[in-house]
Amino acid sequence: ADAQNNARKQGKLDAKTTHEDSAVAVKKYEKGLDVWIQDEALVWVQATVVGTMKDGRIIVRVGPGQDSVVWVKGGYPQLCGENNFVETEDLTRLNPLTEPAVLHCIHERYKQGEYYTTAGITLVAVNPFSTVPSLYSLAKIHLYSTAQPQDVKELPPHVFAVAQQAFGNLSRGLGSQAIIVSGESGAGKTWTARCLMRYLATTSAGKRLPGQRTPTSIVKIEKRILDSNPILEAFGNAGTVRNHNSSRFGKFIQLQFNRSYHLVGASIQTYLLEKTRVVHQAQGERNYHIFYQLYHGISDEERELLGLGGEEEEYQFEWLPTDESQNDRDEDWSSFAITRQAMTSLGIGKCQQQEIFRLLSAILHLGNIVFNSDAHDDGCPCTIEEDDQRCQQSLRVVCSLLGVNEDALGRCLTYRRITAVPGRRKSVFMKPCKPDECVARRDCLAKLLYARLFDWLVDIINKNICGEQAEWKTFIGLLDVYGFESFPENSLEQLCINYANEKLQQHFVHHFLRAQQEEYEEEMIPWNYCQFVDNKDCLELIEGKISIFALVNEECRLNRPSDSQQLADRIHSTLGESRHIFRPKSIHGQAAFTVHHYADRVTYQVHGIMEKNKDAVPEELVELITQSGNKFVSSLVGDMVVMGDTTSKKGRTARTVVSKFKASLDKLMHTLESTSPHYIRCIKPNVQSRPGVFDRRHVERQLQACGVLETVNISRLSYPTRLAYPAFLERYGIIMRTAADQATSSRSSVSSLSSLSDENLDTENMDPQDLLRRKNLVAGGTPGTPGR
Ligand code: ATP
Ligand code: MG
Repeated sequence: ADAQNNARKQGKLDAKTTHEDSAVAVKKYEKGLDVWIQDEALVWVQATVVGTMKDGRIIVRVGPGQDSVVWVKGGYPQLCGENNFVETEDLTRLNPLTEPAVLHCIHERYKQGEYYTTAGITLVAVNPFSTVPSLYSLAKIHLYSTAQPQDVKELPPHVFAVAQQAFGNLSRGLGSQAIIVSGESGAGKTWTARCLMRYLATTSAGKRLPGQRTPTSIVKIEKRILDSNPILEAFGNAGTVRNHNSSRFGKFIQLQFNRSYHLVGASIQTYLLEKTRVVHQAQGERNYHIFYQLYHGISDEERELLGLGGEEEEYQFEWLPTDESQNDRDEDWSSFAITRQAMTSLGIGKCQQQEIFRLLSAILHLGNIVFNSDAHDDGCPCTIEEDDQRCQQSLRVVCSLLGVNEDALGRCLTYRRITAVPGRRKSVFMKPCKPDECVARRDCLAKLLYARLFDWLVDIINKNICGEQAEWKTFIGLLDVYGFESFPENSLEQLCINYANEKLQQHFVHHFLRAQQEEYEEEMIPWNYCQFVDNKDCLELIEGKISIFALVNEECRLNRPSDSQQLADRIHSTLGESRHIFRPKSIHGQAAFTVHHYADRVTYQVHGIMEKNKDAVPEELVELITQSGNKFVSSLVGDMVVMGDTTSKKGRTARTVVSKFKASLDKLMHTLESTSPHYIRCIKPNVQSRPGVFDRRHVERQLQACGVLETVNISRLSYPTRLAYPAFLERYGIIMRTAADQATSSRSSVSSLSSLSDENLDTENMDPQDLLRRKNLVAGGTPGTPGR
């Protein structure tokens, strides 16, 4: 142990080797000992040791009736210890704390309908995929909101417990709080964030003296804050193959509280809306909910006005895929009523709502505009297809709704402006676009309009829910962002999302270590291993001065035709020394790089990254919209900064996607630093989103990706077993010689007990089975690491 401590101090050991070595040092795999062994389907299964081979292999029995015998090759199986998994409400109380035990515990609890489990400073929330009314009843809210601060931790793990702890801290003057909700798509982040908002809105309103009436302004603000959800979800959520209500943007809401800890307002910050979805929906996926809500929810009269078809006819829209399994007219109809009502409550009047609907209809019609590629084949400039009736009709509707001229729109979509500066004279000429360029310009226009509409909505919501700066003092922040992503093909979106997750992981680890440090200091236990677990090298690789972001930005600034291979080579030659980047082994000749994130290795394809990073909007399109006869439409792009312009009229520089994202994330991290954080890790128990199915492999992967297993490993580096003194004595007191020794449940008697060596054990009169059980008990207490 001393050698290990020294090695640790010198930074020579990582979590795995420390664990393995300590295991080797003390392992005596006696017959009858329960261990975990790896399994193809179940990831880990329990087995019982039946013997050890001369070559060191261990023989175990597994299976329901312990009927199959397995030789464990290489490594040493981890010990099961003695745990009541269902009743273990905090994973850090598992004894020993191992990855298999964590997975098994969450599974066993899930089987019993226990969806929440604490993991030290985080809450693990497994999605039940079915409504469990008792889980979120008013009685539950009452239970948590009326508990004394010191008792909340003793209540069963729950999102309400996290919310109550945050609110309790806030109202005890401990400053602003943040609840960081993470997990993969469909894991339940948005659901959880909604629960937290509802709980905090309800309970902070209820914190008034008996008989005191709730001020009307406060009721209104609570309602308005909650009403922001249906609007943001209508415009920012969509049905995907992973989740029928997937948020396609990240969100940070700050609930603002005044001196009396009443909710007085909120502000919302959004991140990285997936614009592409407006113009492209993958097989089996949908466009944003609002389009369907509008299409199925408006009256016939409005339908005519918006150009969405008459009473008799139903228009078909390219950008509105209608997959019967995903579409539910009645649901769209009722959701639309909720969205409209929420808009009204948030100060978006009927006229403005009409403007929004007109814009949405225009975007749908834009998708029906197609181009004549024959013309291009004949050497003529491309035109908007004249022989296609639907296209021509859509063109007319788009122009009427957007307030632009048909010729002007046609020209903008089919010609691009080229500005040449030979010598000192600037000359401008128009070059006909190829068919795919025309399509790209049409899509760009639609994406621009939708993204600007989304930002406008967030602005309006903020104006209507944000408290006066003088009025609020502290806040509780709720963060609902995409979890770590790794697909067969990964691009700039995944790089940004995974970068955000790295940042959050770093924040978590720092906080976690700080919390441990404080605890160890309180317990007067020496502690020193910070250097092993920081992911700053990986973050440096992505966002540092010389980094992937810097190289991608530089390539965009040079404004030369993009060459993926050249950029990939530059990334490898400049950053290759980092231990977090690799050349992928086989990627079918594509330019790519692999980043070793804290959660997993992810390979990113370089193709398309530069275009996405520039996110360039042709200035002709911006001009067209700015000059629109429709004031609402033109105001949306009024302050637009065009890529390629070095400065806008207001002197601001157009920035790349990664620069903007990094800046917004830095700001978020800065805000989070000023809070006491709480973490909720949402887990999706199966990919089919079905109730009652727990896919252990899938869950294990998520525990890895959201850092729960990393936390377990960090914990293992120090003192993974935590027992209060009385519990320790109750369990191990049996080893003590006399009843008198056992009688005191103090720190000193624990310390005298833990100093007992094997030889000091009172083994003379012991039954051999009992002795084995006791030894297993001690072995189960994580060998090699001193107990607390
Ligand atoms: P994305 O990243 O795609 O936005 P998400 O993590 O936000 O995913 P949610 O939309 O919150 O996932 O949850 C997916 C679905 O799972 C919900 O629409 C709901 O049907 C179900 N669900 C989530 N949590 C719960 C819960 N606690 N109880 C019942 N159903 C739930
Ligand atoms: Mg979501």
